[in-house]
Amino acid sequence: MKIPEKLKILGHEYRVSFDSKLFMNENVGGGKACGNDLSIVLAGGMPESREAEVFLHEIIELVKYTLKVEISHADLSALSEGLFVAFRDNDLSFSNKD
Ligand SMILES: [Zn+2]
Repeated sequence: MKIPEKLKILGHEYRVSFDSKLFMNENVGGGKACGNDLSIVLAGGMPESREAEVFLHEIIELVKYTLKVEISHADLSALSEGLFVAFRDNDLSFSNKD
């Protein structure tokens, strides 16, 4: 998928960028999101499917943060993987601009 440079989530516009050094940081994994500085940073050089799943994961993280949803990180990761597979395997985009 083409990762956008900007993304609106619940009224806030997030900048999306890539950092090739992120992959080396085991505490972060493939991405990180910040609801304060409105940023999503993805590790550079990930395989396409992992990059797309991490992007979805970070979106869920920001929805969780903004709406104060209580969910463990393990459950959030499982949700992200499950939704990614459902979207990808069924070629779903949810866009109304086709
Ligand atoms: Zn996470």
